[in-house]
Amino acid sequence: MLNVPSQAFPAPRSQQRVASGGRSKVPLKQGRSLMDWIRLTKSGKDLTGLKGRLIEVTEEELKKHNKKDDCWICIRGFVYNVSPYMEYHPGGEDELMRAAGSDGTDLFDQVHRWVNYESMLKECLVGRMALKSPAPKDYCEEKKVLNGVFPQSQVTDTFAKEGHSSPSYDWFQTDSLVTIVIYTKQKDIGLDSIIVDHQGGSFRAETIIQDHSFLIYIELSHEIHEDFSVRVVENVGKIEIVLKKKENTSWKCLGHPRENHNSLIPKKDRGFLWLQILHSDLYYRKCQLISKEDVTHDTKLFCWLLPPSTHLQVPIGRHVYLKLTVTGTEIVKPYTPVSDSLISEFKEPPLPNNNYIYFLIKIYPAGLFTPELDHLQIGNFVSVSNPEGNLKISRFQELEDLFLLAAGTGFTPMVKILNYALTNIPSLRKVKLMFFNKTEDDIIWRSQLEKLAFKDKRFEVEFVLSAPTSEWNGKQGHISQALLSEFLKRSLDKSKALICVCGSTPFTEQGIRLLDDLNFPKDEIHSFTA
Ligand code: FAD
Ligand code: NAD
Repeated sequence: MLNVPSQAFPAPRSQQRVASGGRSKVPLKQGRSLMDWIRLTKSGKDLTGLKGRLIEVTEEELKKHNKKDDCWICIRGFVYNVSPYMEYHPGGEDELMRAAGSDGTDLFDQVHRWVNYESMLKECLVGRMALKSPAPKDYCEEKKVLNGVFPQSQVTDTFAKEGHSSPSYDWFQTDSLVTIVIYTKQKDIGLDSIIVDHQGGSFRAETIIQDHSFLIYIELSHEIHEDFSVRVVENVGKIEIVLKKKENTSWKCLGHPRENHNSLIPKKDRGFLWLQILHSDLYYRKCQLISKEDVTHDTKLFCWLLPPSTHLQVPIGRHVYLKLTVTGTEIVKPYTPVSDSLISEFKEPPLPNNNYIYFLIKIYPAGLFTPELDHLQIGNFVSVSNPEGNLKISRFQELEDLFLLAAGTGFTPMVKILNYALTNIPSLRKVKLMFFNKTEDDIIWRSQLEKLAFKDKRFEVEFVLSAPTSEWNGKQGHISQALLSEFLKRSLDKSKALICVCGSTPFTEQGIRLLDDLNFPKDEIHSFTA
C-alpha cells in the first residue's frame, strides 16, 4: 500500500500555495516555453543590448526603462533587462510590468521567492545599482582613502569612450579572513583575468579588463598567511580574493597604497619595444624549476612551480617574459606557456595542483638566453612576468573553421588554442594545423598531434618540411600560395573562420601577405608577434 501523507498537499504555507494564491498563470504563445527561453539564452544573442558590458545603474536611469520593449527591473541590487523575457514569463507581461523601471525585490519575494532568477535572467543582466553613498558608516579613515568608488578622473578616456564603467573594489573582514572584492562590471571575466601576488607585506592584484589593467597594490596593515583563494562570479563580473589573517584581530584599514594603486592602466601595445628591454612596468615573481624533458633534439618541456602566494593563469594566446640575471646583467625574453600535453592521458598521474607553468623552449647553442636557461638545475629559479598579448577569446565564439599556420616553436600558442577550441567551442566543425619545420626531427609533439587527429575527427594536421631527407614523402617547401590555397578550404561556403599564424617574423609576414592575396579578410586572421 502506498504511504499517502494525511496532510493536505500542497502544505498550507508551501511555496506552491503561495504561488497559486498569489498569481495566476497566463497561456504562453507557441515557441515561448521555458525550454525555448533557455535555448534563446544559450544562443549567444545579446539580450541586454549592451554587448556584454555591465554598467552601474543610477535610480534615474532605472526609472527611464519602464516600457514593455525597454523594461529594466532591479532585484537585490542587480538590474535586469526583462524585455526579451516578457513573452516567456508564465505570470504574463502585466505582472512583470508592475516592477518596470523600479526595484522589484519585494514583489519578487512575494511571488517568485523560490525561482532561481539569477540563473534564469543571467543573460539579461545589465549591471549593479550605483551606490548612493560611497562609504558605508563603518569605514575607517584609511579605508576611505583606499576604498570606495573609483574616482572618475582616473579612468582613462579610451575606456570611458568605449562605454565601459570603471571597475571598483571593496573589502570585508571576519575574525580570521579578509575578503577583497573587485567589481569589474564586465561579463567575460574568468580566473585567468586576475593575477594576484603577495610578496613580503605587499599585496598586488591586477585584473585584465579589455585592453586595460585595474590595479590594487597595497602594503598590508597586518600579516597574512602565504596562501589565499580566488573566486570569480562570472555572470556578474565579481572577483573575490580571500586572505587568511595571521592573527584574529580586527583590521582598521587594509593598508597603505603603493604606486598606481586603484588605477586603471591601458595595456601598452609594445610592438617590438621589448627588444629594448623596457620592462620596468612588468611585474615578476620567482618560479622554481621542477622538471626539464627532451621533446626533440633541441627543444625541451620546462615545468616551473609558481609560488603559493601567486595566482596566475596565462590566458590562451598570451605570452610572458622570462628573466634571468647572468653575471650581473638582466636578460629578458618572451615565451608562450603551453599545457603539459595535447592529450590528457599523456601525463599520468596529473600534478596535484594547477600552480605549474609549462614552456616548450628551443635551445639555440649560440643564443643569449636559452643556453643559460638550459644550464639551470632542478630547484633553481627564473622570474616570470605577467601575461602580455592581444588574442581575444571572443574570436572563438561560434567559430566553425579554425586554421593554424605554425613554424618551428611558433607552434607554442597553438597548443592551448587546440585544447581550448576542441573542448569549448561546440560550433567547431574543422581544425587544421599546417606545421612548417626544417626536418622530421624538428617536429614538436609529432606523435601527440597524430594521436589527436586520430582521436578527434574534427582535427587534421599536415607537416611541411623545408629541408627534408630523401625519405620524406610528405609536403615540402616554405609557406606559399599553392600550399595555402589547397589547405584553407572552409567546411561551408560562408563558415565563420579564424586563421592563426605564428613563427619567425619573415614567416608570419609572408603568411599574412599570402592570406591577403587569397582574399581572406583581416578580421579572420590573428598573427602572433611580440
Ligand atoms: P638569440 O640570442 O636571440 O639567438 C637566436 C638564434 O639566432 C641563435 O641561433 C643565434 O646564433 C642566432 N643569432 C643571434 N644573433 C644573430 C646575428 N646577429 N646574426 C645571425 N644569427 C644570429 N621560443 C621558444 O622556444 N618557445 C616559446 O614559447 C617562444 N615564445 C615566444 C613568444 C613571443 C611573443 C616571441 C616574440 C618569441 C618567442 N620565442 C619562443 C622566441 C624566444 O623569445 C627567443 O627569441 C628564443 O628563445 C631565442 O633566444 P636566445 O636569446 O637564446 O637566442
Ligand atoms: P626554424 O628556423 O626551425 O624554422 C621553422 C620553419 O619556419 C622553416 O622550416 C620554414 O618553413 C619557416 N621559416 C623559417 N624562416 C623563414 C623565412 N625567412 N621565410 C619563410 N619561412 C621561414 O624555426 P625556429 O628556430 O623554431 O623559430 C621559430 C620562430 O618563431 C622564432 O623566430 C621565434 O621567435 C618565433 N616565435 C614567435 C612566437 C610569437 O610571436 N608569439 C612564439 C613562438 C615562437
